[in-house]
Order: sequence, then structure tokens, then C-alpha cells
Amino acid sequence: LFVVFEGGEGAGKSTQLAALADRLREQGRDVVVTREPGATGIGERIRSLVLETSGDEAPSPRAEALLYAADRAHHVATVVRPALTRGAVVISDRYVDSSLAYQGAGRTLPVQEVSWLSSWATGGLKPDLVVLLDVDPHTGRSRVDSRSRGTDRLEAESLPFHERVRYAFLDLAAADPKRYLVLDASRPVEEIAAAVARRVDEFLVD
Ligand code: C5P
Repeated sequence: LFVVFEGGEGAGKSTQLAALADRLREQGRDVVVTREPGATGIGERIRSLVLETSGDEAPSPRAEALLYAADRAHHVATVVRPALTRGAVVISDRYVDSSLAYQGAGRTLPVQEVSWLSSWATGGLKPDLVVLLDVDPHTGRSRVDSRSRGTDRLEAESLPFHERVRYAFLDLAAADPKRYLVLDASRPVEEIAAAVARRVDEFLVD
């Protein structure tokens, strides 16, 4: 089972991802928690290239898309596929939809092209379930600022950028409702965790 958490900044992905992982581990399942970008050694280097550069040093939009695709290709080949093959539940903080939303809608690259690039990078591996934690960019930003996460690139982005990202995620979910669970990230943490647990359980009953 391959579960992905997506959402804008400050949506609470890491909290929810950890809650789901704890729950599944308590049930005695083999769980692999991972993330994009940066789950591997190569990925960490790519993560700092894309997130810790700004201004003239920052990659151009196409270069950025290729760097995320390279991170993803390596992540899928060395972490995600091997874990799925041995029967683990893989939970990833971000996956292909982040590229469609950030590099596509956010940086205004053609979404279809970013989609081809991602599907080449992953060999077509799709998640069974995408949990989209939908957050209004104002709210998300204030949550991130209060934790001062220090992702230079993100803080430099305008609110319209984050709004394009938000609606891109919602459009992806609307186009494939069976694969998505869309939750309002402003709801209480426990309520969101319970909704995620219910949906994941549907996959795990045998
Ligand atoms: O999930 P996390 O907050 O660690 O993501 C770090 C940042 O990477 C996000 O703020 C987002 O702006 C950026 N990102 C991106 N494109 C991706 C994945 C992440 O721009 N495909």
C-alpha cells in the first residue's frame, strides 16, 4: 500500500503522517515513512539545491522540475519500490502531485509536460491513496512562519503562487476522487487523523 500526503505549507502533513505511521506500526505492520525531496543521500543534495538557493543561484523552472524528477526517480527506485515489493506500507510526504502543483501550476510550466516527466521518473508508479490536507495559504503561511522553518525559496514566493498551488491540488483530487481523500487542514488534528485512519483501514481489511 502506497499512501501519499500532499498539501501546502503549514497543512500539518508531518503530524498526520506520523500519526498514521504510529497507528499502523501498533498494528504490527511494516511501515516505511519517507519524503520528497530529500529521502536519500542524493535526494538531500537535490533538496538543498532547490530549497536553499535563491535569486540568481536558484535553478530555473525547468531545471527545478528536472531536479525534483531526479530526486523522485532515485527515491522510487531505491526506497519506495523495494519497500512495496516486500509488502511494506509506504507513506510519503509529497510525491508527483507536488510537482504538478509547484512546478506546473506554481512556476507555470505546462502541467502535462511535468506529468510526463514524473511518470518517466517513476516508471508510472502511482499511489493507492493521496491524502490532500487542504489549507488556505494565509493560514498555512502563518503556521510555517511561527515555526520559522527557513525554507528560503518558499518564503520568497507570493501568495498568488501558493493559491495556484492550492487549486492545482484540489483540481487533481476532483479529477480522480477515488484515489484522493481531501481534508480541511484547519480541523482538529485528532479529527483529521481519524478520517485518514478510516480510509486507510478500507485498504487493509482482508
Ligand atoms: O514538504 P516540505 O515543506 O518539506 O517541502 C519543502 C518545500 O519544497 C515546499 O515548501 C515546496 O515549496 C517545495 N516543493 C516544491 N516542489 C516539489 C516538492 C516540494 O516546490 N515537487
